[in-house]
Amino acid sequence: MSESPLDIDQIALTELVACHECDLLMRKPQLAEGQLAECPRCGHDLYHHRSQVVRRSLALVIAALLLYVPANFLPIMQLNLLGRTSHETVWSGVLGLYDSGMQGIALIVFLCSMAIPLLKLLCQLSVLLSIRWRVGRRLGLLLYRAYHHLREWGMLEVYLMGILVSVVKLADLADLSLGTGLACFIALLLVQVWLEVTMSPHQIWETLEEGA
Ligand SMILES: [Zn+2]
Repeated sequence: MSESPLDIDQIALTELVACHECDLLMRKPQLAEGQLAECPRCGHDLYHHRSQVVRRSLALVIAALLLYVPANFLPIMQLNLLGRTSHETVWSGVLGLYDSGMQGIALIVFLCSMAIPLLKLLCQLSVLLSIRWRVGRRLGLLLYRAYHHLREWGMLEVYLMGILVSVVKLADLADLSLGTGLACFIALLLVQVWLEVTMSPHQIWETLEEGA
């Protein structure tokens, strides 16, 4: 897409798009299903027009919500230390921090690894359902905005790194076996990344705006 300089006065704002990387302003290309628009200056992907976005995203949100419970409440690891066996879950980690006097850290871990990821998924679910059932688009717009703010606070990736580091460190000290919870946690993370890629913000914003 390379076009002559834009005469901004004659173009409606809704017909324009700016590149996220280099801020180049250009006329919004009309894409067919499966096509991808790239910035002519820096080559950044502007957006992708995917087919069946709502249906595919709904399937992924439901899968993520189903994984959420075992990821947080099934044992991430089983620890045998000096004859004592303990099963550690994300939730028991939060409670453990709380009981050992680190209430502030317990609250942060609870918010970033449990509460906010769940809220994010519920926002995404509500947005998708409002599009699919054609109801409450205004609320959908509000929730989708809220979702974009929450994105910065859900830190499952950081939490997973923490788990992996502690697994490596504890492996020398104790008899350690990994649990189903960890598999669900990793699956939840992968499904969420897949969902982020599938649920193209450009298409979701446009659909919400059309129906509002
Ligand atoms: Zn660019």
